[in-house]
Amino acid sequence: MKAFKPRLLALPDYPYTARQALIKLDQNESPYGLPPELKAELAARLEALPLNRYPEMHAESLAERIADFEGWPETGVVVGPGSNTIITALVAAAQRVLDVQPSFALYQHAAELLGVPYRAVPLEEGFQLPLEALLAALAEEESPGVFFLPNPHTPTGHFFMQERVQILCEAAAQHDWLMVIDEAYYQFAPADLKRQALGQPHLGVLRTFSKAWGLAGARAGYLLASEEAARVVRHLLPPFGIPAPTALAVELALEHPGYVTEAVEKVRRERERVYLELKAHPTWTAYPSHTNFLLVRTPDAQAAYEGLLKRGILVRRQDHVPGLEGAIRVTIGTPVENDAFLQAAFELAKEEK
Ligand code: PMP
Repeated sequence: MKAFKPRLLALPDYPYTARQALIKLDQNESPYGLPPELKAELAARLEALPLNRYPEMHAESLAERIADFEGWPETGVVVGPGSNTIITALVAAAQRVLDVQPSFALYQHAAELLGVPYRAVPLEEGFQLPLEALLAALAEEESPGVFFLPNPHTPTGHFFMQERVQILCEAAAQHDWLMVIDEAYYQFAPADLKRQALGQPHLGVLRTFSKAWGLAGARAGYLLASEEAARVVRHLLPPFGIPAPTALAVELALEHPGYVTEAVEKVRRERERVYLELKAHPTWTAYPSHTNFLLVRTPDAQAAYEGLLKRGILVRRQDHVPGLEGAIRVTIGTPVENDAFLQAAFELAKEEK
């Protein structure tokens, strides 16, 4: 095929394989979603929606609600159909991309897709931020670009301390980079640590409605940034890109954020329970997590993945990631789902012998 850039023909698929399973713990979704009374209200509002009309160009009304919710100027709010889309737009706008390794796979995937120079600095022992190496990278590159840092971190669940992140923000500002902290999981982190210092022109924060809000199927995420950065990113997103039903669902959710607090509380409690119960496992080890998932080391990721799938439980393999040999990533589900996972994990330990 000659019509397309050769680079694109050779590009590997995004590292995700969809499978059917009774218990789906592979995409860090919320096991809860909108409560029934909000679903009923959404159905009523959808009925009144004029679907023959285009939605707003950049979901301006929703951006205004998010600006109110976050205490952020509306001019610096960009809404996208999933934060994935905003990440891709940020990469398309960037001169280069800096990342840590391991990391959320899309930063690298989008850079390769769009032909943007990409560099990743490995995390240190214990998933610590490699401060010196990142400071050197920010200073060394011949032009600045966008530096993505997921915090809480994926796929490890680790939370980077504010003081270290702040040092990187200051270095990004000094060398004219845009540092984007991807806070897809911020609600699951310790409450007193969750907010990074916003309001600096060289800092952007990405958030999503897919995780704690339980709206992954609606597809909505947002960037909080300076007015200038927001304008560029908005230009790179397709006009009329947020479907009207999505905007409705998210606006309704923003009117009732209490359900999110409750869901997050349940997930955090369950996360601690699963983490502690796994301590009794003879061969599997979970890492401490500040997200809605656990990274678990096993002797053999393929055997763990297949053994769980045989018992109706779908998780995500991470053993393709350098340094994460034997690792699987398990989303925290409902207590019943987590019990099924734990039971299967202990059964598999017997099979290993
Ligand atoms: N950032 C991180 C760190 C994620 O883990 C995910 C989802 N797996 C996303 C962004 C994408 O979220 P969205 O559904 O908003 O596209």
